[in-house]
Amino acid sequence: MYENCDALALRRYPFSETSYVLTLFTREFGRVDALAKGARRRRNPLFGHFDFLAYEEITLFRRPRSGLDLATAAAFYSDFPRLRSVPARFAAAGIFAEILLAACQPSDPHRVLFDDLLATLRHLDAGGNIFTTATAGLLLMLRELGFAPRLHECVNCGATNVARAFLSPSRGGLVCENCAAAAPEFLLSRLDLARLRGEADGDARTLRTLKHYAEYVLGRELVSFHLFFRLMPRG
Ligand SMILES: [Zn+2]
Repeated sequence: MYENCDALALRRYPFSETSYVLTLFTREFGRVDALAKGARRRRNPLFGHFDFLAYEEITLFRRPRSGLDLATAAAFYSDFPRLRSVPARFAAAGIFAEILLAACQPSDPHRVLFDDLLATLRHLDAGGNIFTTATAGLLLMLRELGFAPRLHECVNCGATNVARAFLSPSRGGLVCENCAAAAPEFLLSRLDLARLRGEADGDARTLRTLKHYAEYVLGRELVSFHLFFRLMPRG
């Protein structure tokens, strides 16, 4: 059965002399693995498509039993040219792709996540503050994946307006000074907290704290942060 979908290309491997195996994140079907036959041939209509993070309308011939659909047609919506031309912006987008690849399974659509991610990429493409956009985008992703940190009261005792707050990955959000216990818990200044809540522009320190949080809840190191922080050492 042929179906059209809106897709972001997450990964593309050469397969045979002429084809690619793709991993797509689609609005309609979530993660999709697909074979793009002939897409490495210059005269093929699929040539030049499925570049990393290209946003395209893709026609799939669905093959649920094989686990590998066929991508039979593609038309660009956007390939985010400005995002692509600034390495730090591109690296920030790479963090989101890594998380999607780690957290999304086939046949598990996440429409809100797709639209949030698209909005984040557009914002990066339009020149938005990189740390602020990356922080907000990461928090949106964590929320949609069910890992949003609670940032408005101590997750242990419920205290609000805490003087010294810590971000606790293992407890899923803020803890106050009285409830803070074992490492790894990360001290947050009032400004850090405002940054996490989207009330102030982001910076490197807050994003690093959020990286540790995301790595804990996702259960894996997020290696694309290394490149990002090499390109963007300061806030
Ligand atoms: Zn507390």
